Amino acid sequence: MPTDNEFTRILQWPGYRVYRHQIDEKNRTLDLWVRRKRGNRKLECSGCGHKFQNSYDCRERTVRDLPWSEFQAAVHIEVYRVKCPTCGVKVEKVPLLPSKAPFSKRFEDAVGLACESASARQVARRFGLAERTVRAIDLRYLERWAATRRKTALRQMGVDEIYRGKSDKFLTVVSNLESGEPLWFGKERKKETLDEFFRTQLRSGQRRRIEAACVDMWEPFRLSIGEWVPGCRLVYDKFHILQHANDAVDEVRRAEFFRKGRKMRDVIKGKKWLLLSRWKNLVPRQRGVLNRLFQLNRRVFKAYLLKESLEQLWDYRYEGAMLNYLRKWMDQLRWQRLPSFQALAEMLLKHLDGILNYCRTKVRFGVVEAINGNIRMLINRGRGYKNMRYLLLKAQRMAVTNTEYLAFTRIRKTA
Ligand SMILES: [Zn+2]
Repeated sequence: MPTDNEFTRILQWPGYRVYRHQIDEKNRTLDLWVRRKRGNRKLECSGCGHKFQNSYDCRERTVRDLPWSEFQAAVHIEVYRVKCPTCGVKVEKVPLLPSKAPFSKRFEDAVGLACESASARQVARRFGLAERTVRAIDLRYLERWAATRRKTALRQMGVDEIYRGKSDKFLTVVSNLESGEPLWFGKERKKETLDEFFRTQLRSGQRRRIEAACVDMWEPFRLSIGEWVPGCRLVYDKFHILQHANDAVDEVRRAEFFRKGRKMRDVIKGKKWLLLSRWKNLVPRQRGVLNRLFQLNRRVFKAYLLKESLEQLWDYRYEGAMLNYLRKWMDQLRWQRLPSFQALAEMLLKHLDGILNYCRTKVRFGVVEAINGNIRMLINRGRGYKNMRYLLLKAQRMAVTNTEYLAFTRIRKTA
């Protein structure tokens, strides 16, 4: 039988020693009773950090610790209270006990780490905990991480929205384009939403440091940025603009579908996904299907070409060249009778400055999309993200650890 001394050496709780142990072989549990080592007598008030020599009283707390082989381990620990002139009678600070919950810090760390690559339900099963408990542990784990890490200064920001369905509507996501992480979530997507970010999250000095914002052509966001960070350059997000081009293609597809007779409907039917895909991402068989459709319907063909060629706009590094390309692109619209593309062209002209700004300030397009992809995946996988703070921390941790690196690169390539 190991001695208390040997248990102390294996347990490795700094400053604490085992003075009693109990092994239950039938239930596979190990119980250890620990108290401060001699010489470890300095008590710290958990409220203000003041140090004390004397205690007020002492209680025993029981926490679950990492398992020992097949045995679930519980540690019973003596915890003191101090009589603090500032805080009153207060429990001492014990680094091994991060919260009031009955778990040791390293047990919580193990659960939190497991939550980085598995769902709360899977982790709950593995550790024999309730799913709710796992989420609470994970949230504390992430809060501790967020409190100690260094944050990257915000110089280029991304603003985007996520549609969360009929009841929750939109979620506004503000991100740091350089560190590739989300910074803040806001309900809805009004001007007031983004105003709240600037008002509550940044000091005026931090706001002044923002040099560029990558946004959708969404007026409320533009207005808010103009008001709070007037020196910041707006750069309209390439992927959003291409999304508008995709919508325009889809409108042509639908119009042709209803305009033409039965035969043409059968040709167009079921091709939506192909038409919205990029040519370079299609395999030869899919290209063949599209080519047959293009031979029969010139207007759909033209719409597809316009969409495909628009992307090259962002290959230009000089404003003049970019503008020149855009003019040529618009020239192709003449006599085509494609109202959805006419509307798109007007939209581009109206937002021209923010498109050309890409030549003045390079931003990383695709970061916003990747962040949103990760958030959507978290929402779909985790079900219970009623707690926005938890969702944000989770997405930040994901961005920093690159857990979903594969998803990140895939989105970047296909978008
Ligand atoms: Zn105190």
